[in-house]
Amino acid sequence: MQAKTNLGEKIMRIYDDIQLDYCDILLRPKRSTLASRSEVQVLREYKFKWCSRPISATGIIAANMATTGTFEVAREMQKQHLLSALHKHYSAEELLSFLKKNAQEFGNNDLLFVSSGVSDADYEKLTQVMKSGLINNICVDVANGYSSYLINYVRKIRKDWPTALILAGNVVTGDMCEDLILNGADIIKVGIGPGSVCTTRKLTGVGRPQFSTVIECADAAHGVGGMICADGGCTVPGDICKSFCAGADFVMLGGMLAGHEESGGELVAKKLQTTELEGQDCTLKTEEKLYKKFYGMSSEYAQSKHYGGMKKYRASEGKVVEIPFRGPLEPTLLTILGGIRSCMTYIGAKRLKDMPKCATFYRVNRQLNTIFGNE
Ligand code: 5GP
Repeated sequence: MQAKTNLGEKIMRIYDDIQLDYCDILLRPKRSTLASRSEVQVLREYKFKWCSRPISATGIIAANMATTGTFEVAREMQKQHLLSALHKHYSAEELLSFLKKNAQEFGNNDLLFVSSGVSDADYEKLTQVMKSGLINNICVDVANGYSSYLINYVRKIRKDWPTALILAGNVVTGDMCEDLILNGADIIKVGIGPGSVCTTRKLTGVGRPQFSTVIECADAAHGVGGMICADGGCTVPGDICKSFCAGADFVMLGGMLAGHEESGGELVAKKLQTTELEGQDCTLKTEEKLYKKFYGMSSEYAQSKHYGGMKKYRASEGKVVEIPFRGPLEPTLLTILGGIRSCMTYIGAKRLKDMPKCATFYRVNRQLNTIFGNE
């Protein structure tokens, strides 16, 4: 619903429908005939509007951030039939050499995306990589998907590679999803501001709660034969489940995959002092703890690391955090997949694709019992 307020000659528009985030809802369990988690099928066969090559995967994509779109993360993701958008700071030579090796190990590069911005230099590098024939999937990523540069770029690369898989974003409204799909994109990346290291909402006041974004964008995209990828804002496996249930075909993860052995980012060792009290004795202990740096791609840190400094007309829209080191990625991925399987049995969805059809949501104002902390 749209409220209109007359301010003299100007019409102020306020959309007053409630906008929800993952933390505002829970899924309602349903009676089902699924006896065990092993009976559900998390692999989905994806067929696309423009791309002629179907893929078989569980639709989770490692974000094309310098810390999560790494070759090492991609390897672990593929072992679990998950996807990766390789970050755009690898050179064409590095990408080609990796893609050759990867195709020998996994049979093809169908679960990988090569990432691109919309500049001439991005286009040149993309052309060099695509010409090799080693990869068919492209992720076009700009912070503001409403810029006409994005739609023009999508049109241009669709013309160049008529059967490529094109993932493009980011936007948060159905109209823009439709436009991008009709102009050549297969999958639209949706989300402005929900990311774990994103400060866009703070800096600009722009954004939309992610759960409502997914519902509207999925409906619009599906209506014109496209798909969506919900990008950002997942903090626990349950959020990924909610996103699939809201209609996301793919879910992109940054923070949940960061801080692992395979993730990028500097490893930092910190000495922490703790006191231990035993009876009357108090001992001072020094412990070393490992942390990994994780940073937003529009942060000042990323701008200086990858672009040699921040341009004067820009402000940082991302932050840097240090995550306690989490060890290898595999257990985290297995926990995520376990969570999805379990969700599917709770709601009676035999196939990943059935999740939205089986989902009913409760609006809630409390998710967790935090008496023993938030973990
Ligand atoms: P997460 O899974 O960490 O919540 O969100 C990951 C997503 O955050 C990325 O895929 C990307 O869309 C977004 N992102 C990454 N870095 C930045 C940044 O510096 N600024 C903004 N606004 N978004 C970012």
